[in-house]
Amino acid sequence: MVKVVAGNWKMHHGPDAARRFFSRFRPKVENGSVRLVFFPPDLSLEAAIGSTRVPADFGVQNIHWEAAGARTGETSAEMAREAGATLALIGHSERRHIFGETDAEVDRKVGAAARAGLVPVVCVGELLEERRAGRLEEVLRRQVGAFAGSLAGVAEFMVAYEPVWAIGTGETATPDDAAEAHGIVRDALGTLGRAPVLYGGSVKPGNAAALVSAPDVDGVLVGGASLDPDVFARIAEACGGAGS
Ligand code: PEP
Repeated sequence: MVKVVAGNWKMHHGPDAARRFFSRFRPKVENGSVRLVFFPPDLSLEAAIGSTRVPADFGVQNIHWEAAGARTGETSAEMAREAGATLALIGHSERRHIFGETDAEVDRKVGAAARAGLVPVVCVGELLEERRAGRLEEVLRRQVGAFAGSLAGVAEFMVAYEPVWAIGTGETATPDDAAEAHGIVRDALGTLGRAPVLYGGSVKPGNAAALVSAPDVDGVLVGGASLDPDVFARIAEACGGAGS
Protein backbone atom coordinates (compact mmCIF):
# COMPACT_ATOMS: atom_id res chain seq x y z
CA MET A 1 0.00 0.00 0.00
CA VAL A 2 1.35 3.47 -0.90
CA LYS A 3 1.93 5.38 2.35
CA VAL A 4 -0.37 8.31 3.08
CA VAL A 5 1.37 11.51 4.20
CA ALA A 6 -1.25 13.97 5.46
CA GLY A 7 -0.71 17.47 6.80
CA ASN A 8 -3.17 19.05 9.25
CA TRP A 9 -2.51 22.78 9.20
CA LYS A 10 -4.92 23.39 12.11
CA MET A 11 -5.62 27.15 12.48
CA HIS A 12 -2.52 28.18 10.52
CA HIS A 13 -1.84 29.41 6.98
CA GLY A 14 -4.43 31.80 5.60
CA PRO A 15 -4.86 32.00 1.80
CA ASP A 16 -1.62 33.96 1.18
CA ALA A 17 0.45 31.66 3.38
CA ALA A 18 -1.13 28.65 1.66
CA ARG A 19 -0.02 29.96 -1.74
CA ARG A 20 3.48 30.65 -0.38
CA PHE A 21 3.61 27.11 1.05
CA PHE A 22 2.92 25.50 -2.30
CA SER A 23 5.29 27.78 -4.20
CA ARG A 24 8.06 26.31 -1.98
CA PHE A 25 6.82 22.76 -1.61
CA ARG A 26 9.03 20.55 -3.69
CA PRO A 27 8.85 17.03 -2.30
CA LYS A 28 11.90 15.06 -3.27
CA VAL A 29 9.70 12.00 -3.60
CA GLU A 30 9.10 10.31 -6.88
CA ASN A 31 5.67 10.98 -8.25
CA GLY A 32 3.22 8.59 -6.68
CA SER A 33 5.59 7.10 -4.10
CA VAL A 34 3.38 8.55 -1.33
CA ARG A 35 -0.20 9.84 -1.32
CA LEU A 36 -0.15 13.47 -0.21
CA VAL A 37 -3.16 14.90 1.63
CA PHE A 38 -3.59 18.41 3.03
CA PHE A 39 -6.13 19.69 5.55
CA PRO A 40 -5.91 23.50 5.32
CA PRO A 41 -8.29 25.83 7.16
CA ASP A 42 -11.59 26.15 5.23
CA LEU A 43 -10.83 29.73 4.18
CA SER A 44 -7.54 28.62 2.59
CA LEU A 45 -8.89 25.58 0.76
CA GLU A 46 -9.44 27.28 -2.58
CA ALA A 47 -6.05 29.04 -2.51
CA ALA A 48 -4.32 25.80 -1.57
CA ILE A 49 -6.01 23.73 -4.27
CA GLY A 50 -5.29 26.43 -6.84
CA SER A 51 -1.59 26.66 -6.07
CA THR A 52 -0.60 23.01 -5.57
CA ARG A 53 2.30 21.98 -7.78
CA VAL A 54 2.15 18.28 -7.01
CA PRO A 55 -0.60 15.63 -7.10
CA ALA A 56 -2.42 15.89 -3.75
CA ASP A 57 -5.84 15.48 -2.19
CA PHE A 58 -7.47 18.08 0.01
CA GLY A 59 -9.79 17.83 2.95
CA VAL A 60 -11.46 19.96 5.60
CA GLN A 61 -10.58 19.76 9.29
CA ASN A 62 -14.17 19.46 10.54
CA ILE A 63 -17.75 19.34 9.29
CA HIS A 64 -21.22 19.63 10.77
CA TRP A 65 -23.57 16.68 10.34
CA GLU A 66 -26.46 18.75 8.95
CA ALA A 67 -26.43 19.53 5.22
CA ALA A 68 -27.57 23.14 5.77
CA GLY A 69 -29.45 25.27 8.27
CA ALA A 70 -29.21 27.64 11.22
CA ARG A 71 -25.77 26.56 12.44
CA THR A 72 -23.76 29.79 12.55
CA GLY A 73 -20.06 29.24 11.99
CA GLU A 74 -20.36 25.67 10.78
CA THR A 75 -19.59 24.06 7.40
CA SER A 76 -21.47 21.11 5.97
CA ALA A 77 -19.95 18.15 4.19
CA GLU A 78 -21.82 19.13 1.02
CA MET A 79 -20.33 22.65 1.09
CA ALA A 80 -16.84 21.25 1.68
CA ARG A 81 -17.24 18.98 -1.32
CA GLU A 82 -18.49 21.81 -3.50
CA ALA A 83 -15.40 23.84 -2.48
CA GLY A 84 -13.08 21.06 -3.70
CA ALA A 85 -12.50 18.91 -0.61
CA THR A 86 -12.55 15.16 -1.11
CA LEU A 87 -11.80 14.18 2.51
CA ALA A 88 -12.93 15.29 5.96
CA LEU A 89 -10.95 15.01 9.17
CA ILE A 90 -13.36 13.99 11.92
CA GLY A 91 -12.93 13.70 15.68
CA HIS A 92 -9.46 15.23 15.89
CA SER A 93 -8.36 15.27 19.53
CA GLU A 94 -8.47 19.08 19.57
CA ARG A 95 -12.14 18.89 18.52
CA ARG A 96 -12.83 16.23 21.15
CA HIS A 97 -10.92 17.84 24.02
CA ILE A 98 -11.10 21.60 23.36
CA PHE A 99 -14.57 21.72 21.80
CA GLY A 100 -16.08 18.82 23.72
CA GLU A 101 -16.99 16.71 20.69
CA THR A 102 -18.49 13.39 21.78
CA ASP A 103 -18.29 9.90 20.27
CA ALA A 104 -21.94 10.28 19.21
CA GLU A 105 -21.19 13.54 17.36
CA VAL A 106 -18.16 11.96 15.69
CA ASP A 107 -20.44 9.19 14.47
CA ARG A 108 -22.96 11.67 13.04
CA LYS A 109 -20.17 13.49 11.21
CA VAL A 110 -18.82 10.24 9.78
CA GLY A 111 -22.28 9.47 8.41
CA ALA A 112 -22.62 12.98 6.97
CA ALA A 113 -19.21 12.82 5.28
CA ALA A 114 -19.98 9.45 3.76
CA ARG A 115 -23.40 10.61 2.47
CA ALA A 116 -21.78 13.64 0.83
CA GLY A 117 -19.11 11.51 -0.84
CA LEU A 118 -16.21 12.74 1.31
CA VAL A 119 -13.61 10.25 2.56
CA PRO A 120 -13.89 10.28 6.37
CA VAL A 121 -10.49 10.37 8.13
CA VAL A 122 -11.51 9.61 11.70
CA CYS A 123 -9.14 10.31 14.59
CA VAL A 124 -8.93 8.18 17.73
CA GLY A 125 -6.45 8.14 20.59
CA GLU A 126 -6.04 7.84 24.32
CA LEU A 127 -5.17 10.40 26.98
CA LEU A 128 -1.95 9.91 28.95
CA GLU A 129 -3.88 8.96 32.10
CA GLU A 130 -5.87 6.39 30.13
CA ARG A 131 -2.65 4.85 28.80
CA ARG A 132 -1.09 4.84 32.29
CA ALA A 133 -4.20 3.16 33.66
CA GLY A 134 -3.83 0.36 31.10
CA ARG A 135 -6.99 1.46 29.25
CA LEU A 136 -5.52 1.84 25.72
CA GLU A 137 -7.47 -1.03 24.20
CA GLU A 138 -10.75 -0.16 25.95
CA VAL A 139 -10.57 3.48 24.78
CA LEU A 140 -9.69 2.64 21.17
CA ARG A 141 -12.39 -0.04 20.93
CA ARG A 142 -14.98 2.36 22.36
CA GLN A 143 -14.00 5.19 19.97
CA VAL A 144 -13.91 2.95 16.87
CA GLY A 145 -17.08 1.14 17.93
CA ALA A 146 -18.94 4.46 18.09
CA PHE A 147 -18.55 5.14 14.35
CA ALA A 148 -17.88 1.75 12.77
CA GLY A 149 -21.56 1.20 12.00
CA SER A 150 -21.66 4.38 9.90
CA LEU A 151 -18.80 3.07 7.74
CA ALA A 152 -20.60 -0.09 6.61
CA GLY A 153 -20.70 0.00 2.81
CA VAL A 154 -18.48 3.11 2.61
CA ALA A 155 -16.00 2.59 -0.21
CA GLU A 156 -13.11 4.61 1.23
CA PHE A 157 -12.22 5.81 4.69
CA MET A 158 -9.14 6.15 6.92
CA VAL A 159 -8.54 6.10 10.66
CA ALA A 160 -5.79 8.13 12.34
CA TYR A 161 -4.42 6.83 15.63
CA GLU A 162 -3.25 9.93 17.47
CA PRO A 163 -2.31 9.41 21.12
CA VAL A 164 -3.41 12.67 22.74
CA TRP A 165 -0.22 12.86 24.84
CA ALA A 166 1.86 12.93 21.63
CA ILE A 167 0.00 15.69 19.77
CA GLY A 168 1.94 18.94 19.64
CA THR A 169 4.06 17.89 22.62
CA GLY A 170 7.23 16.62 20.96
CA GLU A 171 6.52 13.21 22.56
CA THR A 172 6.18 10.45 19.99
CA ALA A 173 4.91 6.93 20.33
CA THR A 174 7.57 4.35 19.54
CA PRO A 175 7.04 2.24 16.41
CA ASP A 176 6.13 -0.65 18.77
CA ASP A 177 3.53 1.52 20.57
CA ALA A 178 2.08 2.53 17.21
CA ALA A 179 2.01 -1.06 15.94
CA GLU A 180 0.17 -2.22 19.07
CA ALA A 181 -2.46 0.53 18.84
CA HIS A 182 -2.90 0.11 15.08
CA GLY A 183 -3.42 -3.62 15.58
CA ILE A 184 -6.23 -2.84 18.06
CA VAL A 185 -7.81 -0.32 15.66
CA ARG A 186 -7.64 -2.76 12.77
CA ASP A 187 -9.17 -5.50 14.88
CA ALA A 188 -11.94 -3.16 16.07
CA LEU A 189 -12.72 -2.25 12.44
CA GLY A 190 -13.38 -5.95 11.91
CA THR A 191 -14.88 -6.74 8.55
CA LEU A 192 -14.99 -3.15 7.27
CA GLY A 193 -12.04 -3.74 4.97
CA ARG A 194 -8.38 -2.84 4.88
CA ALA A 195 -8.54 0.93 5.29
CA PRO A 196 -5.35 2.93 5.83
CA VAL A 197 -4.61 3.52 9.53
CA LEU A 198 -2.35 6.56 9.97
CA TYR A 199 -0.18 7.48 12.95
CA GLY A 200 -0.20 11.06 14.25
CA GLY A 201 1.62 12.72 17.12
CA SER A 202 4.82 14.77 16.77
CA VAL A 203 5.89 13.13 13.50
CA LYS A 204 9.10 14.68 12.20
CA PRO A 205 11.60 13.95 9.40
CA GLY A 206 13.74 12.00 11.89
CA ASN A 207 11.05 9.57 13.12
CA ALA A 208 8.71 9.23 10.12
CA ALA A 209 10.51 6.36 8.36
CA ALA A 210 10.64 4.20 11.49
CA LEU A 211 6.97 4.84 12.27
CA VAL A 212 5.68 3.98 8.79
CA SER A 213 7.84 0.86 8.75
CA ALA A 214 5.99 -0.51 11.80
CA PRO A 215 3.35 -3.20 11.18
CA ASP A 216 -0.12 -1.85 10.34
CA VAL A 217 1.09 1.78 10.03
CA ASP A 218 -0.09 2.95 6.61
CA GLY A 219 0.99 6.56 6.81
CA VAL A 220 1.21 9.63 9.00
CA LEU A 221 -0.98 12.57 9.97
CA VAL A 222 1.33 15.50 10.67
CA GLY A 223 0.39 18.70 12.50
CA GLY A 224 3.12 21.19 13.41
CA ALA A 225 5.75 19.75 11.08
CA SER A 226 3.42 20.05 8.07
CA LEU A 227 3.47 23.85 8.21
CA ASP A 228 6.98 24.21 6.83
CA PRO A 229 7.16 23.08 3.20
CA ASP A 230 10.78 21.91 3.44
CA VAL A 231 10.18 19.92 6.63
CA PHE A 232 6.98 18.36 5.28
CA ALA A 233 8.76 17.45 2.03
CA ARG A 234 11.44 15.68 4.09
CA ILE A 235 8.74 13.69 5.92
CA ALA A 236 7.17 12.72 2.60
CA GLU A 237 10.58 11.70 1.29
CA ALA A 238 11.23 9.57 4.39
CA CYS A 239 7.86 7.82 4.03
CA GLY A 240 8.33 7.26 0.29
CA GLY A 241 11.45 5.25 0.92
CA ALA A 242 10.00 3.17 3.76
CA GLY A 243 8.92 -0.43 3.28
CA SER A 244 5.24 -1.37 3.39
C1 PEP B 1 -2.24 16.64 14.51
O1 PEP B 1 -2.61 17.79 14.58
O2 PEP B 1 -2.99 15.77 14.01
C2 PEP B 1 -0.91 16.27 15.02
C3 PEP B 1 -0.55 15.02 15.03
O3 PEP B 1 -0.13 17.30 15.49
P1 PEP B 1 1.47 17.27 15.76
O4 PEP B 1 2.10 16.57 14.58
O5 PEP B 1 1.86 18.70 15.86
O6 PEP B 1 1.69 16.50 17.01
